[in-house]
Amino acid sequence: MTAIDRIDIAVIGAGLGGAAAAALLIDAGFEVEVFEQAPEFVRLGAGIHIGPNVMKIFRALGLEDRLAAIGAHPDHWFSRDGMTGEYLSRIKLGDFARREYGAPYITIHRGDLHAEQIAILPRDRLHFGHGLTDLEEREDHVLLTFANGRQIGAGLVIGADGINSRIREKLLGPEKPKFSGWIGHRALVDMDKLRATGLDYERCVKWWWDLSRHIMAYATKGDGSEYYYVTGVPVDSWDHDAGFIDSSQEEMDAIFGAGAHPMVRGLIDATTHVTKWPFWNRDPMSLWSRGRLCLLGDACHPMRPHMAQGACMAIEDAAVLARALSLTGADDFRTAFRIYENARRDRATKVQTISNANTWLKEPEDPAWVYAYDPMNVPLH
Ligand code: FAD
Repeated sequence: MTAIDRIDIAVIGAGLGGAAAAALLIDAGFEVEVFEQAPEFVRLGAGIHIGPNVMKIFRALGLEDRLAAIGAHPDHWFSRDGMTGEYLSRIKLGDFARREYGAPYITIHRGDLHAEQIAILPRDRLHFGHGLTDLEEREDHVLLTFANGRQIGAGLVIGADGINSRIREKLLGPEKPKFSGWIGHRALVDMDKLRATGLDYERCVKWWWDLSRHIMAYATKGDGSEYYYVTGVPVDSWDHDAGFIDSSQEEMDAIFGAGAHPMVRGLIDATTHVTKWPFWNRDPMSLWSRGRLCLLGDACHPMRPHMAQGACMAIEDAAVLARALSLTGADDFRTAFRIYENARRDRATKVQTISNANTWLKEPEDPAWVYAYDPMNVPLH
């Protein structure tokens, strides 16, 4: 029998949460290897908000200035009526966020963010083409088996492998995520057509049609050269095997066009390539860790994306987990996992619940409990 490689900590999945966990754990001095099923990452057309709560983590990783230079800096999150354009709320961001919440609020292309996160990982610690297929919990390690035939023994395993997590399945048994009843259209719009409208598009605005559908639109580059939208639309079912399929300008028009405000009309007219994605979900989970296995991010609290905090919660998880392990040392991982879950469960569940309800910032409200949170300094017990 061939000898099996042994490592201290395996992070499964190099998405936004896994990449953050790996970088923070490596910075804290742990021996970490990251295993990602994809052969490489590509720049898919999607944007993401990163709140001040998470920019503080990127500050600790030395990425804050770089991301702030690439991303856009909305002065406000506006909520507006999709038909009349009436302002429903104006949530202050920009300089106010820097001052009050302790870091900038940015909107950025997801691929640009992820590329920066991947770039700070030592290349020899990141293993693409490693899809985890099986794991076996043994007394002093976990035996990991990958689709490429490789086997590795890991002292600890962090499941950052997203909503269909193999680690979650090991902890709680196989269970498909639930279709949330909502889909989202995603598009980077044609900037020439958008500029030709002559309208001054706000850097971050959510267009609402009561609670039945919406369009969240925002800039993804600081220089104004990219503008993106993601919708939320309830549907009866999702009958496709694919993770996403093509949509069309005609479909956008059919859903949002009738009586739409001229700025919404302009967004639809500037749509050339648009895809649609199902939103999957799970109820809050009873178990985040067991023995040497621990979950973070969408693996343990997936949510509909309407609060723009799903990835932020994954990255916050990563920060708190890395701090907990630093406090206890890897040998006392049971205490570390308990500290982590105590610190994270209520907050992640609250964000999951509000996100799923799709009420965030529709009316004027104080978002400080989300944005002022400091995952690098929150007391851990
Ligand atoms: P993922 O990003 O899903 O990463 C999991 C990784 O694990 C992937 O790279 C995957 O390939 C890998 N993997 C999976 N299985 C295996 C395996 N068996 N072996 C090895 N690797 C594996 N969040 C925000 O904070 N702000 C936003 O503005 C925002 N907008 C969103 C808009 C939309 C339309 C959607 C759908 C989501 C949005 N989110 C947003 C949520 C966010 O995308 C997720 O919460 C976030 O990606 C979760 O990160 P993660 O690292 O936990 O999982």
